[in-house]
Amino acid sequence: MLISLARLTENGLRFEHQYKDSELDLSGHEFLFTRPPLASGRVDRVGVDIRLRGQIRAELELPCDRCLEPVGFEIETPVDLFFSPGEYEAGKTGETELTERDLDFSVYENDEINLDEVILEQLELNLPMHVLCGEDCKGLCPQCGTNLNVEKCQCEAPIDPRWQALADLRNRGDE
Ligand SMILES: [Zn+2]
Ligand SMILES: [Zn+2]
Repeated sequence: MLISLARLTENGLRFEHQYKDSELDLSGHEFLFTRPPLASGRVDRVGVDIRLRGQIRAELELPCDRCLEPVGFEIETPVDLFFSPGEYEAGKTGETELTERDLDFSVYENDEINLDEVILEQLELNLPMHVLCGEDCKGLCPQCGTNLNVEKCQCEAPIDPRWQALADLRNRGDE
């Protein structure tokens, strides 16, 4: 969804949007939605910049780091972002401007803000670092790919790669 700034007055502009299932292009992202995002908030003019404040809520699934089975998450995050008009970028010189516009500063063009981009970016920022379906997830067999949480396979226990590295080192030392 694009937020048009044409209707933005000094009183600000409210927005609320419940995304539909296939509304956001998730190619290049590792997650899927079990409940697509609900985004709400307001935009205000701050000088030449636009400030967007609000909330994003979504439920999504990520693959378990070990067994790749989907694991569900809920993300609920506040957003507070600044946007500068694209054409100002080139003429931006003063350092004072930069200090005001720290990391949460983006560019908008054509008098509209692309809410889709904002949401995907914010969700990415809020994804968990590690995803496990359970503390004791056994993962996949490195040889045959069987999900060891579900069934056992016939492969022999592989050598722990850490020991293998040590063994390699020793062998090299013997040469
Ligand atoms: Zn797992
Ligand atoms: Zn196996």
